[in-house]
Amino acid sequence: MAEKVVIIGSGPAGWTAAIYAARANLGPLVFEGALTPENAAKGTLPLGQLALTTEVENYPGLPAGDTREYLKTALPPDRQPDWVQSNKPQQSHGINGPEMMELMRQQAVNFGTRIVTDDIVKVEFNRHPFRLHSLEGKAVEALAVIVATGARANYLGLPSEDRFKNRGVSACAVCDGALPRFRNKPLVVVGGGDSAVEEATYLTKFASQVMLVHRRDQLRASKIMQQRALTNPKIALKWNRTLAEVLGDDRQGVTGARLRSTVDGTEEVVEASGVFLAIGHTPNTDFLGGQLALNEKGYIRWTTPQRTCTSVEGVFAAGDVADDYYRQAVTAAGTGCMAALDAERWLAHKGWL
Ligand code: NAP
Repeated sequence: MAEKVVIIGSGPAGWTAAIYAARANLGPLVFEGALTPENAAKGTLPLGQLALTTEVENYPGLPAGDTREYLKTALPPDRQPDWVQSNKPQQSHGINGPEMMELMRQQAVNFGTRIVTDDIVKVEFNRHPFRLHSLEGKAVEALAVIVATGARANYLGLPSEDRFKNRGVSACAVCDGALPRFRNKPLVVVGGGDSAVEEATYLTKFASQVMLVHRRDQLRASKIMQQRALTNPKIALKWNRTLAEVLGDDRQGVTGARLRSTVDGTEEVVEASGVFLAIGHTPNTDFLGGQLALNEKGYIRWTTPQRTCTSVEGVFAAGDVADDYYRQAVTAAGTGCMAALDAERWLAHKGWL
């Protein structure tokens, strides 16, 4: 028998959609993603981009405080972070990304959500019920589908980037910029688009200086953003340079960066306690095989204003896979809620509830 609603993806959009769908008695089935080395390398493991961050300070309702006792009671022992059971001091000020995602997942489970730890690798949206195929070779039929597979930040692919991820290397200034390790220290931002300028400008609130490293001699960012970067006394433009290596050690994390000239190949070492990549994101849409309309940037196109409908009736999209503009946990959760309500109303309209 076909599922009423299948949710693909396990970030804030997916879990919020699941919580709402479960409470509407739709009995949602979530494909949370597969635990594969390929997903680990791409940054697409279950629980999404937030599972790759540290403290989350901008999600309302989770102020600073000791969450040890709360996490102990809210999560089953096998899904609690190590520090909760051990006597290690609490690392976060309030909540961190992986903990927040575990809590959202648990909340969905508490209301009856069923979870499959696998990827959907192929969809058939040209028939109804829709059919979804998993990496492990299972096929599931669904009356409605919510796609919430998110996006992944682009990295340069340097081994040193990997080594220092979460210890000074980040692709999200808004998530990580205010951490103590970045305060009053020089920082590097790589990229020349609006995101790079926005991140660099944001980081000037905390850093002693921000070096904006761009591979050309002209920014791609919009004129107003360019102006912002060029006139900010705390931003130093490093034109015609690429990041050759992130420097650091196991104790301190990032301590600097080796930059290489794109003109003559000469290199320089700069001191920095953080390196932020802002070279774009890639939405996780490959598995759709072109069966949903995408916008010009490759994100799923929402076809109706104020709704999460896609180009296929009965398929809804939520979170960063359809949003290249806000890209926040709270906005993803918001559209996840919308997608569940849209799916419920559509199923009711069809007389399938
Ligand atoms: P983007 O516009 O695609 O810019 C990516 C930047 O990264 C480019 O400057 C590019 O260099 C550089 N880059 C890409 N690959 C690189 C590599 N391998 N090595 C070194 N540099 C590399 O992406 P974005 O800045 O994330 O913006 C995405 C979209 O969101 C844009 O449409 C943007 O306007 C929008 N956005 C708007 C705002 C705002 O209005 N406040 C804020 C953020 C984003 P080249 O220039 O040489 O190609």
